[in-house]
Amino acid sequence: MREFDVLVIGGGLNGLCAAWWLLRRGVKRVGLVERFTLGHDHGSSHGASRITRSAYADAVYVRLMQVAHAEAWPALEADAATRLIHRRDACLFGPNGGPFQDYLDALAGIDVDVETLDPAEARRRFPVFRFPGDLGVLHDRTAGIVAAADTIAALARIVRAGATVIEGATVLGVDPISRVVDTQDGPLRAERIIVTAGAWAGRLLPGLAGRLTPVRQTVVHLAVDGDAAAFPLWAWRGLGDFYYGLPSFQRPGIKAAKHVLDGPPALDPDAPVDAPETRDVLAFLEEHLVSPPREVLATERCLYTVTDDEDFVLDHHPASAAVTVGAGFSGHGFKFGPLTGRILAELCLDGETTVAPFEAARARFGWGA
Ligand SMILES: Cc1cc2nc3c(=O)[nH]c(=O)nc-3n(C[C@H](O)[C@H](O)[C@H](O)COP(=O)(O)OP(=O)(O)OC[C@H]3O[C@@H](n4cnc5c(N)ncnc54)[C@H](O)[C@@H]3O)c2cc1C
Repeated sequence: MREFDVLVIGGGLNGLCAAWWLLRRGVKRVGLVERFTLGHDHGSSHGASRITRSAYADAVYVRLMQVAHAEAWPALEADAATRLIHRRDACLFGPNGGPFQDYLDALAGIDVDVETLDPAEARRRFPVFRFPGDLGVLHDRTAGIVAAADTIAALARIVRAGATVIEGATVLGVDPISRVVDTQDGPLRAERIIVTAGAWAGRLLPGLAGRLTPVRQTVVHLAVDGDAAAFPLWAWRGLGDFYYGLPSFQRPGIKAAKHVLDGPPALDPDAPVDAPETRDVLAFLEEHLVSPPREVLATERCLYTVTDDEDFVLDHHPASAAVTVGAGFSGHGFKFGPLTGRILAELCLDGETTVAPFEAARARFGWGA
């Protein structure tokens, strides 16, 4: 039986980041087992780009982003010797009151470079948008495009160089007490285990299945008049809807999507689907852009795994502190990846972390929270 000091199950963003941090900590026998190949497009971490920002509707995530921007991403960029965050301004807007107010409340009292604008000033700074009526607007100067595919490629390089990567192997079960991991190619054993299985986490950890809902997302790439690369990053926080977009990094056009949280409750993450939400994205852009998009260039599919409150799960398995779990990263986990990787590695090795805003709110991220 192959033996490891720490075995990571799932090689998406979070598994790769956890393995990267374990290697940084000097763990000798790190294994990572992935059912597909690193960089595949069946889970949550593929595609060229993601948005990073500090504007959040919850002060805990604003504070975690401060650590992610100041420490975690620079550490990964240094180890990868590659620029992974490309700084761009972002605007976040929505009707005053309602969910938009949560962003103002969360940012109040935290020293972060996010400014409130009235619609006239917002139109001057972000002229591609109409900003009609009584809207609140935030200008986030900490935002940027995360070069997502570059990040995964850099992490895969680092992890392959220091760990044993087992690809094309599906984990069938994890025994938290014996720490034997059953795969279709035979069992593996580890002193400690980190499970970062994305939309499949509930299958491996039945105790979490009720808390984790996989939801399919569709992203649309669109041709626009003018320089698509000059588009801002943006997010609309409406009374009952949430849209976001950015330039289609490393490809033509802009990218936009509807943030969908209420998918079929028992979605099979392996099942094919079609995407009516593309129509909603086009209708939103028709209403809010000064020059609506010219045509749809492409669509992409991706999976969210959501908890009820969109909090992440970052905790030990209730039956054994030798098993650490990272799950429920929803549609906002990429910007935290290098930080959640560090949190998972520290929970696994030390039982507690050096990330103060995480420790201060740790109960929220618990298995049974
Ligand atoms: C459309 C879309 C847009 C997004 N936009 C943003 C954004 O702008 N900003 C942001 O911060 N975040 C964003 N996110 C969220 C972010 O991308 C995810 O939170 C993050 O990628 C989750 O990574 P993960 O490692 O948890 O999951 P995954 O990448 O899915 O990794 C899980 C891995 O586990 C493997 N696995 C599962 N089961 C097994 C098994 N039994 N055996 C072996 N391997 C297994 C899977 O194959 C997979 O590789 C977006 C997500 C989507 C879908």
